[in-house]
Amino acid sequence: RAKAEGRNTHRIFDPAMDEAEAGRRDIGRELRRAIAEGGLDLHFQPQVRATTGAVLGFEALVRWTHPSRGSIPPSTFIPLAEETGTIVTLGEWVLRTACSEAARWANPLKIAVNLSPRQFQQEDLPDLILGILTETGLSPARLEIEVTETAIFADMSRALSLIRRLKALGISIAMDDFGTGYSSLATLQAFPFDKIKIDRSFVGQVGSSPQAAVIVRTVLGLGRNLGIGVVAEGVETADQRDFLIAEACDELQGYFFGRPQPIERFASLVHGAAAEALPRNDARAEAA
Ligand code: C2E
Ligand code: MG
Ligand code: MG
Ligand code: MG
Repeated sequence: RAKAEGRNTHRIFDPAMDEAEAGRRDIGRELRRAIAEGGLDLHFQPQVRATTGAVLGFEALVRWTHPSRGSIPPSTFIPLAEETGTIVTLGEWVLRTACSEAARWANPLKIAVNLSPRQFQQEDLPDLILGILTETGLSPARLEIEVTETAIFADMSRALSLIRRLKALGISIAMDDFGTGYSSLATLQAFPFDKIKIDRSFVGQVGSSPQAAVIVRTVLGLGRNLGIGVVAEGVETADQRDFLIAEACDELQGYFFGRPQPIERFASLVHGAAAEALPRNDARAEAA
């Protein structure tokens, strides 16, 4: 295709485009260096049981602090890494770092890791993950992989076989950003997801948009009837939490419960010194 275009079109010199392209190449190169030289970090965001507030696990979210540009959001560099293929190296780093971190925790909490569409094209992904689990000693039952519909639509039959192989390892699979894709319902029918994560664009509006409230309620019913767990993403207020509890949502995640932060901030949760955070000792759990 690129070849055909090269034959039929004339490249017109466009300084602005040239500059943007050069900038992207710089960032791409700097990202590869950051991966190699320890310039990336993981932050962790708690996922809690809705009824008790007990922490069930964390989602790992990658962070990049550029030496001169400062912190660059994943919404900027993940798509770039995806285009350039750097995502494969980056994703492997995220998986290995998240798993080895979780393996050190005293409490066997879950760890959720995002996988990008391109990683999901890797035929050897199950072997890679199995290798990382073996190497780090993390139990597969504690690992959850989050994928979006984009990852699945590139090649549905391949995605299905990949998901089956991952599940056979004992890993669970969550569908991220549910409701924002093209055909969420068809995807639910065809793929054996353990969990769906309702996108925060709906969750954030349950108090202000009757439509959003209906959509969230409907997705919760869908999950219940299909036997799939539902997580609400982006819970920011007590009102949103109360709505979700009233609608029998299983799990919640969002700034209300904790922002993504370095794991040191959650030391008492993962190592068990903060007894009130554990389900058994949670005062709210007793009340429930
Ligand atoms: P995501 O997987 O849907 O992650 C949730 C995003 O929502 C995170 O943004 C998180 O910080 C943000 N968030 C959580 N709670 C709230 C809330 O209450 N309010 C608001 N406004 N936002 C909230 P973040 O860390 O900027 O990541 C953005 C996206 O970048 C992620 O969306 C994911 O698609 C991608 N990403 C992040 N880390 C990785 C990674 O390690 N690998 C891959 N492949 N993608 C990643
Ligand atoms: Mg996610
Ligand atoms: Mg999401
Ligand atoms: Mg997202």
